[in-house]
Amino acid sequence: MKARSAFSVKVCEAKVMIIPIRCMTCGKPVGHLWETYQKEVKKGRNAQKVLDELGLERYCCRALFLTHRDLIKTVGQFKK
Ligand SMILES: [Zn+2]
Repeated sequence: MKARSAFSVKVCEAKVMIIPIRCMTCGKPVGHLWETYQKEVKKGRNAQKVLDELGLERYCCRALFLTHRDLIKTVGQFKK
């Protein structure tokens, strides 16, 4: 029990994203592209162009990025 609570605190401090490491449909590794995508979209760039530049061509991977919401802070408020 102690280890679990220590882990969740560590995760919150590190601001870990919960984007899947691989696309759940095709298996392409996508987790490493998430921060770049977030940065570019926050600058106001078109998400379609950013996804093209990142090499995400299949619609399964694109949907993953377009629909993902980081809920770590929300989920972290609730303990078991
Ligand atoms: Zn995919």
